[in-house]
Amino acid sequence: MSARIIDGKATAEVIRREISEKVAVARAAGKRPPGLSVLIVGENPASQSYVRGKKKAAEEAGFRSEVHELPATISQKELIDCVDRLNADPGIDGILCQLPLPNHLDATEVLLRIDPNKDVDGFHPINVGRLATGLDGFVSCTPLGCRELLLRRGIETTGKHAVVLGRSNIVGTPMALLLMRRGAGGDATVTVCHSKTPDLKEVCATADILIAAIGKPRFVTADMVKEGATVIDVGINRIDDDATKTGHRLVGDVDFEKVKEKASWITPVPGGVGPTTIAMLLQNTLKSWMQKNS
Ligand code: NDP
Repeated sequence: MSARIIDGKATAEVIRREISEKVAVARAAGKRPPGLSVLIVGENPASQSYVRGKKKAAEEAGFRSEVHELPATISQKELIDCVDRLNADPGIDGILCQLPLPNHLDATEVLLRIDPNKDVDGFHPINVGRLATGLDGFVSCTPLGCRELLLRRGIETTGKHAVVLGRSNIVGTPMALLLMRRGAGGDATVTVCHSKTPDLKEVCATADILIAAIGKPRFVTADMVKEGATVIDVGINRIDDDATKTGHRLVGDVDFEKVKEKASWITPVPGGVGPTTIAMLLQNTLKSWMQKNS
């Protein structure tokens, strides 16, 4: 059996179109657009590229989109002051600070300073606590995108055994919390694995739904996957490849070619989880805006 491919790019396009239609209707009714503000400190090329993608997506959806490019020499106080100004700006619904920050800055203090009602990355402990206790709030965009992919394909999670590989605050932990939450896209029995998990292969092989988020190229091999499982590959890893113009290419945490012969559904890398992450950022910003405009 060869798995059906979950085309995250196409799903993200549909979601983005749905969002832009909602914004267009609201604009036609005279409402202000949703506002997204992104802070970037220094000149990390990968961060710059991510931020450009977010800005473009927000503009295409009809949002007010602004990027604050701050010098690498900025002080902690100046950065916090910038967050405070955006917290107070009534035209801004979503604020995010692109990580990593230069070493002299305290990222935790910055994340804690963002108004939880504008925390569209879902990283603030208040939003993580809301997720953990089943309350409504903002959820981290990458796991939210994974859940959206499952929901939109009608892939059942209720009563299934989901194994999440990785326990980071950004991906693994909120993913596990989403899957065990009550209701659609949840109600799964969840196992979380990490670098101290013994018998990792055996645990993965019992998964009906396997979410790989560890950042190790092609770590998940076919023998770790149950026949007919759904495999969601969050990993983005750059590997050398002389056959490409750039000399490298992106692969996931899953050995896609082999695993797709065993799984029933699988996400590719690139074009799987990645595009839905940005779509969820727009969705979270729209949600924040709707809370003030409905
Ligand atoms: P982190 O490095 O923060 O966390 C990695 C997790 O994997 C940790 O919990 C770690 O365990 C675990 N881990 C690492 N090696 C092993 C191993 N050999 N066996 C078992 N567990 C292991 O990564 P992130 O969660 O931020 O990201 C994971 C991947 O997802 C990366 O490739 C990243 O690029 C990608 N990513 C993709 C996004 C997208 O939009 N598609 C967005 C965010 C991330 P321990 O806790 O014990 O150290």
